[in-house]
Amino acid sequence: MHDKTTELIHHPYQAPAGFAAPQLGVYKASTVIFANTAELRSRDWKHKTGYTYGLHGTPTTFALEERLCALEGGLQCLLTCSGLAAVALVNMALLRAGDEVLIPSNAYGPSKALAEGELAAWGIGHQLYDPLQPADLAAKISAKTKLVWLEVPGSVSMEFPDLPALLRVCRAANTAQRSIVTALDNTWGAGLAFNAFDVLAEGGLGSAVVGADISIQALTKYPSGGGDVLMGSVVTRNEALHLRLKATHMRTGMGVGAKDVEAVLRSLPSMALRYAAHDAAGRALAQWLSTQPEVAQVLHPALPGAPGHAHWQQLCRSGQAAGLFSVVFQPRYSPAQVDAFCDALRLFKLGFSWGGPMSLVVPYDMPSMRGKAWPYAGVLVRFSLGLEAVADLQADLQAALAQMA
Ligand SMILES: *Cc1c(COP(=O)(O)O)cnc(C)c1O
Repeated sequence: MHDKTTELIHHPYQAPAGFAAPQLGVYKASTVIFANTAELRSRDWKHKTGYTYGLHGTPTTFALEERLCALEGGLQCLLTCSGLAAVALVNMALLRAGDEVLIPSNAYGPSKALAEGELAAWGIGHQLYDPLQPADLAAKISAKTKLVWLEVPGSVSMEFPDLPALLRVCRAANTAQRSIVTALDNTWGAGLAFNAFDVLAEGGLGSAVVGADISIQALTKYPSGGGDVLMGSVVTRNEALHLRLKATHMRTGMGVGAKDVEAVLRSLPSMALRYAAHDAAGRALAQWLSTQPEVAQVLHPALPGAPGHAHWQQLCRSGQAAGLFSVVFQPRYSPAQVDAFCDALRLFKLGFSWGGPMSLVVPYDMPSMRGKAWPYAGVLVRFSLGLEAVADLQADLQAALAQMA
């Protein structure tokens, strides 16, 4: 007979197999137990054939990876501790000193900061290209270019690029010596608005199906849907590329917590319904704001007249868009007056990120973010629609606009 504590640690009871319920069980582990030394010695962290260590996968993380592959139309997926970490993983896996990465000038700000900080310090160059000018991307590709980032639409400014044209530029620049990897930040589309791996090229260089090599997402946004989880994903269709990414994932120790994975697994089945609701609210309020005298321009890719609207129509054949848009106020309103508008909102809360139940608002200083190329004189405010009733949100906006006068 063992001591009680020993007995508790090594208790022999095994619950019957075959438990079935709507949600999967949650497996938590750093240590994974091997049956014998032969199994320990032949362990394989590269494939989903078994388990080696908590960092390399559990039934819980494998389940989320497979569901995200199904969502995005990919074959392999890696989970990271945030959306930004997914961007960092791709950069670290594919870039070496002397290489160059091309990033859209309207990319998610922290992705650019990563290039300016760590990548530059590691001897990796970067250039920003104008995503609305495929010719600008073509001109900036050089023998050093190993990776091209794509983002749809631009962060905060919401311009919608011609994604097939940008992908064709990258493909046309491939040589026998060097194949450029294309990585799409697909957080806005969430795997719902369009398929990152099957972007139909309309005419042009063969009307074959082209797609990005890598699709990353901030699962923090719509897949989580709660505003309470940070996670990212890196989905690929190419096994060799996946294994390069996986090696870096392993060596840098990028793990995710089982409870966070559980939260995302629980939220995924409702994502399409939530996405449609966020979209409907975003479009209704963007439309309404475009009729208000305080507003100079509404930047929502699904609204006619918005920058890149035709490219949205071409890419998002589902007719879907995220519940996210920006508004440029008339130049007569000072930054302080626009701040007062944001402070007067009661339901829209001031905060970064998006995709959760609560509507959010952030005023941005675009000239300092985008420099001289920024075309509007008024102050920009970005709205992210939650799941509150549209009539309540409209009344909130109306009251805040009224106090600007
Ligand atoms: C939020 C976001 C990220 C980063 O996600 P985090 O999980 O917050 O690090 C990356 N790209 C885009 C487009 C985002 O909106």
